[in-house]
Amino acid sequence: MSAEILDGKALARQIRSELKSEVADLIACRGTTPTLAAVLAGNDPASEVYVRYKQRDCKEVGIESQLHHLPAETSQEDLLALITKLNQDDSIHGILIQLPVPPQIETEVVLASIDPMKDVDAFHAENVGLMVQGRPRYLPCTPNGVVELLKRNNLATAGQHVVIVGRSDIVGKPLANMLVQRGADATVTVCHSRTRDLPAVTRLADILVVAIGRANFVTAEMVKPGAIVIDVGINRTDDGLVGDVDFEAVSEVASWITPVPGGVGPLTRVMLLVNTLTAARSLID
Ligand code: NDP
Repeated sequence: MSAEILDGKALARQIRSELKSEVADLIACRGTTPTLAAVLAGNDPASEVYVRYKQRDCKEVGIESQLHHLPAETSQEDLLALITKLNQDDSIHGILIQLPVPPQIETEVVLASIDPMKDVDAFHAENVGLMVQGRPRYLPCTPNGVVELLKRNNLATAGQHVVIVGRSDIVGKPLANMLVQRGADATVTVCHSRTRDLPAVTRLADILVVAIGRANFVTAEMVKPGAIVIDVGINRTDDGLVGDVDFEAVSEVASWITPVPGGVGPLTRVMLLVNTLTAARSLID
């Protein structure tokens, strides 16, 4: 068997073109240009690249973006002062803090200081709570990207056993929450580094989502024949970017598979645009 490819890059392009006309409509009807403020503290090369991509995406769909680039030695106080300013600025609809922040800054404190209405990454406890209760204000970008990738390829989650490997606050936990909501209706198992006999659990998956950050960790033996495999992992290796799944081998077993790059990553970025547009609409109403 050779799995079909879940092409995140093409889907992201399609969603961006849909967003472009929605943004144009908002500007035409309400005179408001959705605006995202990105805050980057320090000079982490990967973070700089991510922020650049996000700004390029904004430009493509007509969303205005600002970059607030702070030095690596920025104090928490200075960063919080900037966030307060952005919270109060009516022309800003979304605020994005590029993670990781430098070590002298507490991530939780910074994320909690963002106005929940402008929290387009959906990391604020208020937005996480709303999502868990099934009445989301914003959906977290990577989990929403995974769900959208399945939906738009007509791959139903209802009644399916989804096994998620990885329980982080940005991928595994929120994705599990989204998939057990009414409407998604999946049966979800979440695995982590303490899971006993992981291959026995992953082999139960109709849909296997892997987000652990270990290059080529998931082998063909860990996958049920015909399963859908979503690889969230991004690992920099001597061979370039690779996922958490051994793509070549698992493609022989799975029915559908995401490539890395070009799978979940482009959708994560596009969901930030979706949330920024939603934020702009809510804030002008
Ligand atoms: P974290 O490091 O926060 O979490 C990793 C999770 O994987 C933890 O829950 C950990 O378990 C689990 N884990 C680690 N090793 C194993 C193992 N051997 N067996 C089972 N579980 C294991 O990572 P993130 O969620 O932030 O990111 C995961 C990957 O996804 C990374 O490669 C990251 O770059 C990528 N990523 C990609 C995005 C995209 O848009 N495509 C967006 C965000 C992340 P425990 O909790 O027990 O330690």
